[in-house]
Amino acid sequence: MIPMKMTIKDGRRRGLAVLLGMALAVTTFAAFGTPLVSYGSDGSSDVTYVSVGLKYGNEAVERCELRSDDGFQIVNISGGMDETLPLLGYDHLVVEVKNNTITVSDSDGATLVTDLGSDNVIMNGDYLGDGTLTVSVNNREYRGGIKFYVRSNGKMNVINYLMLDHYLYGVLQGEMGYHNPMEALKAQAVAARSFAMTTTSSHTGEGFRLCPNSHCQMYYGVSYEHPETVAAVDETSELVIYHNNRIVPAYYHKNSGGHTQNSEDVWSAKEGYLRAVEDKYCPEYKWTAAFTWDQLTEKITGIGKVTDVQISKRTESGNVLEMTVKGTGGTKTLSKENIRMTLGSSVVKSMNFTLAGGSGQDTAAGTSVYVLGDGGFAKSRKEATILSASGSRTLSSFDGTVVLGASGSKTLAAEKSGSTASGSGITLTGLGYGHGIGMCQDSAIAMAKDGWDFEEILHYFYTDIVVDYVSR
Ligand SMILES: [Zn+2]
Repeated sequence: MIPMKMTIKDGRRRGLAVLLGMALAVTTFAAFGTPLVSYGSDGSSDVTYVSVGLKYGNEAVERCELRSDDGFQIVNISGGMDETLPLLGYDHLVVEVKNNTITVSDSDGATLVTDLGSDNVIMNGDYLGDGTLTVSVNNREYRGGIKFYVRSNGKMNVINYLMLDHYLYGVLQGEMGYHNPMEALKAQAVAARSFAMTTTSSHTGEGFRLCPNSHCQMYYGVSYEHPETVAAVDETSELVIYHNNRIVPAYYHKNSGGHTQNSEDVWSAKEGYLRAVEDKYCPEYKWTAAFTWDQLTEKITGIGKVTDVQISKRTESGNVLEMTVKGTGGTKTLSKENIRMTLGSSVVKSMNFTLAGGSGQDTAAGTSVYVLGDGGFAKSRKEATILSASGSRTLSSFDGTVVLGASGSKTLAAEKSGSTASGSGITLTGLGYGHGIGMCQDSAIAMAKDGWDFEEILHYFYTDIVVDYVSR
């Protein structure tokens, strides 16, 4: 291959390049054995790559164009990062699915590679540096390279393959916002790195590991990089979260509503590092969601027309664990995160809510279920915590309590569940956004503003962890 490199650089592309392409096809692996996390070919773990789906499923494509100012380099990733075909003289490639194989052509239509396979990645010519390439399918710019995965319907998934930290450069802005304090961004970087390295996702059957949405982590590539997000990643490079000597997926969410949750109360597995903690720094995030009986009937199927909804179980901190739904044809119990999945997780933003409407309203254990009205200082369902410069005080009964502060006074109002009941359906009133597990991003920002460093923030939200280097 090495003598050919010069030929290509010299611009005598056609013919020779086709031959190269055929040679490459011979070495192409037929199996889709992409490693979840691959390491440098020397066995070192300091060069970790991740794969992120850009177009897949219903959005899979038949054709994709790549543009690069640094040329391209085809790299085989099946056993490391073996550079197999330099295409440094090219600035524009066309990738197409033909007869279930992936072909690569130049902009004039000359075939360069006849069967790319899924273990060969078209990297930017300067993929170890700051090189980027632009992908036509979404017109976005990415570091690293692009790999493709042929689907049974004759289309292909388009996948960004890049170094872990390069990926994180493009994650932080979508997940937290670059304008936030550096220690919060660093906490986010370490959590996102640990998550990316360890999450077992449903995407591996699609040829990649992480999707670019909130299901995994928000990722938009180079256009979302900022000096601040890059610095937060660089300053924490290789730092990850360990629990019981293994790197763990450090789940996080936008806003806990005042209390994080035990993993088994939201999903099913009990994880020692994902324990519920009181979240005193959490800024208030309030939401309401209303559903008519008809809307509920559409979402909750198998029990006829929905006629009543009750909350039948809550966690220690007051989050909803179980919801019992009665219909003309039976009764159904929704539990844990499945409640949000059924009703819509962007509408029912958290599991920290009260229910109004229906006949039984809130039947969960303990009848004194309250939420603070607007302007509460801190919140929990059963008590109010009042914060001041000299400390905090928790009241178990607070309705009507007047709190004097430097900027005036406030009367705490308790809102009893069911107080806004209506016959037309149900209304949920809640606090927080997200599953409530692990780090609360809004609180991390508040804590950083208050002087906490990133390790302190991580230790607050994750129990019994060690923050250390990957190669420790
Ligand atoms: Zn995902």
